[in-house]
Amino acid sequence: MTSSFSNLSLAEPLARAVAEMGYETMTPIQEQAIPVVLAGQDVMGAAQTGTGKTAAFALPLLQRMLKHENASTSPARHPVRALVLLPTRELAVQVAQQVELYAKYTNLRSAVVFGGMDMKPQTLELKRGVEVLVATPGRLLDHIEAKNAVLNQVEYVVLDEADRMLDIGFLPDLQRILSYLPKQRTTLLFSATFSPEIKRLAGSYLQNPVTIEVARPNETASTVEQHFYSVSDDDKRRALKQIVRQRGITQAFVFVNSKLGCARLARSLEREGLKTTALHGDKSQDERLKALDAFKKGEVDLLVCTDVAARGLDIKDVPAVFNFDIPFNAEDYVHRIGRTGRAGASGLAVSFASGGNDARLVADIEKLIKNKIELEALEFDEDRPRGRINDGRRHWREEGEAGDARDVLDAPRERGGELRGLRGGGRPHRAPAAPRDPFFDQPYEPGQREAAPAWEAAAKSTPPVRGISANIKSKRKVAALFKTPEPSN
Ligand code: AMP
Repeated sequence: MTSSFSNLSLAEPLARAVAEMGYETMTPIQEQAIPVVLAGQDVMGAAQTGTGKTAAFALPLLQRMLKHENASTSPARHPVRALVLLPTRELAVQVAQQVELYAKYTNLRSAVVFGGMDMKPQTLELKRGVEVLVATPGRLLDHIEAKNAVLNQVEYVVLDEADRMLDIGFLPDLQRILSYLPKQRTTLLFSATFSPEIKRLAGSYLQNPVTIEVARPNETASTVEQHFYSVSDDDKRRALKQIVRQRGITQAFVFVNSKLGCARLARSLEREGLKTTALHGDKSQDERLKALDAFKKGEVDLLVCTDVAARGLDIKDVPAVFNFDIPFNAEDYVHRIGRTGRAGASGLAVSFASGGNDARLVADIEKLIKNKIELEALEFDEDRPRGRINDGRRHWREEGEAGDARDVLDAPRERGGELRGLRGGGRPHRAPAAPRDPFFDQPYEPGQREAAPAWEAAAKSTPPVRGISANIKSKRKVAALFKTPEPSN
């Protein structure tokens, strides 16, 4: 049973801020973590973003720091007492914004530092004194070396998205940062998965941590309908467009494995008239924040991104996630599709497997999620003989590849709790009944969208025909989409 924030005896300024945010009941991670952090224990938390984990650590930390609260203007009276480390700039900004809102009615100060921006304004802020410092590891080290950040009074450390920090190669930076901190402190580690490396990190830096899990690690949400299609590299773009249109998807994340591939795909979809933006590490900080903002406001329909850039972004329940490339790291599959079907809402995750290494990558995912993956064939509308109604039950042989387990497929079997395949060639996606939860009950709101998605606009003249097959109704829409010849890349 979820309980109310009023049971927590939060100090008045914090309770007021929470009420202003409109939160009533605690999310499961909050319910479990807040009392533990208030009691001063270390935490090893398995929780995905979107579960409310920022408030789960920020509120109890602020509450514990209130005893140091003062209105003095002297920087010495505002030493860094809580350090929150995150792997990416976007996450750091997002967490810092939330911390600021929770601390709004207190005299506790917070600041955020991350790379890719001028150090000067960050330095000025640090020199004024801040109690809560949110940072990415590399930039924090720069500030430590420049003596802008002094960490010898830190009492609380949060390692958020710890698995991703290790993936990015932040381990040496983390170890250095942790060596500057007092040994006597509370450490909270959050990670979407508990890999052996994470357990090692926790073993060396946490003391008798309380383990909190809100979803079993490495588990994909049961409300996400997952499909793996065998599609050649050249066909991936039209496969993407076809599925988007057939399913009436309003907004989606499209994951690619490389920055270059990300930029290229976004450009090419944009050229084809789809409102697309790219989010990858080579974009300037300003460009990345703008891209994110446009997507959140619903001005953009497809956010093409790399794993690093998209990790943990607070974009609630996107209707669909595409793995344009199968991720190299199976755990990224779990993170990627975690953006859809969040706690209770339904979602669609579509992955495109081409040749080469993909069979091995798919096998890795299969092992991790402990679910059998069946590769499905995707029939393109324009390849279908005229007048034929596709019943989705054709045999298929992957071209140019030695026959293997992926060779032949019939209509995918439906199994309780397992991956569900498309039937009838892709009927519009019906949401499974979502369990009611006051927190996650809000439907997905794509912001103040003024216009319909580009693919809808392109096919506006075609009213959807319900019934026989989604493929038939959409054929005319596809024609509209393909008005412009496809670029060759
Ligand atoms: P997080 O997982 O911390 O990134 O939080 C995801 C989103 O949930 C943020 O936009 C929070 O503002 C929101 N949120 C956090 N806790 C609650 C709550 N108890 N009730 C409603 N919304 C919440």
